[in-house]
Amino acid sequence: MKTPIVARRRYDTASSKKSVGSETDSYLAKGAPGKMVVCHGCHAISAGRRWYQDEAVYAKLLKTGTVKEVYCPACEKIRDGYPSGQVTLKGPFLAEHHDEILRIITNEEKRARERNPLHRIMSLREENGQLEITTTDEKLAQRIGRELRKACGGTVAYGWSHDNKFLRVQWER
Ligand SMILES: [Zn+2]
Repeated sequence: MKTPIVARRRYDTASSKKSVGSETDSYLAKGAPGKMVVCHGCHAISAGRRWYQDEAVYAKLLKTGTVKEVYCPACEKIRDGYPSGQVTLKGPFLAEHHDEILRIITNEEKRARERNPLHRIMSLREENGQLEITTTDEKLAQRIGRELRKACGGTVAYGWSHDNKFLRVQWER
């Protein structure tokens, strides 16, 4: 039993050294499952910097038994309750077009997630006629604000944090 484990470790070390540099993508494209990591939480797969979602590939990778299981940055943010964006909506138009507005928001999330599975809505809360959304990525918050402005009019304001890591968006109509 011991020998194969040692052998595999050696192989992993060698391959992780090899992955440094521009070779990474072509190496992965050849299908080296030992190089990939998968997320426990959302089943996203990463071959380096980028993450993507494919349930069939996820299942296949798990079956290999050699793929490393981690939490992706988005699942970590959700677990720690640490959003990167916040959108607050208010005004009479919101109450009148509540469902339509929710649809715009969820469509925008769906589109963003297709491009990058780490761009997600974390929470959605309604209180005193306001709707508050938090997102795992500041650009998603920005896009939701832009889409609302485009589809429904109103005014939108963006407030970046000092380090540009957190975006607060306020839409009103
Ligand atoms: Zn995840």
